Order: sequence, then structure tokens, then C-alpha cells
Amino acid sequence: MPTYEYYCEKCGRFEEFQRMSDEPLSRCPTCGGPVRRLISRNVSIIFKGSGFYTTDNRSADYKEKAKKDSEAESSSGSSKAPDAAGV
Ligand SMILES: [Zn+2]
Repeated sequence: MPTYEYYCEKCGRFEEFQRMSDEPLSRCPTCGGPVRRLISRNVSIIFKGSGFYTTDNRSADYKEKAKKDSEAESSSGSSKAPDAAGV
């Protein structure tokens, strides 16, 4: 169940567990004042997930290049320099 964050001018920020189908709160459950919804925490989780995925790809690609580098280095040491500058 997603957690929605709201901001009340009197009570400050608070979180509310709601279903996707539930309507967003328009009034504070504590003081009854108007609230506005903040960006959901779920967004940052998705953002982190894609970030890890990108890192995984990059590290795999880096290992591949490093492997080629070491192979090239054994035959000719000078070929390593332009590749390293690209990274
Ligand atoms: Zn309030």
C-alpha cells in the first residue's frame, strides 16, 4: 500500500497510508485544516531502483573494457591510454 505525504500548515508534514483508488485527503485528520499532498515516497524508490540498474550495466561494461585493456596491454601497452580517457 502506497504512503502519501501531506503537509498541514498547522501540524506540518505527516504520512497517510491509502489505496491507489482512495481519494487524496483534502483536510487534516488532526486539526481539520486544509492540506496539500507532497510527492509520494514511492517515486524515490523507483528512482533508486533504476539508478542501481544503470550502475549494474556500467560496472559490467567496465569489466568488459578492463578485460580487453589487459589483453591489449600484453601485446601493446600504448593502446590503453585513449580508452581510459573515454571513461
Ligand atoms: Zn493539521
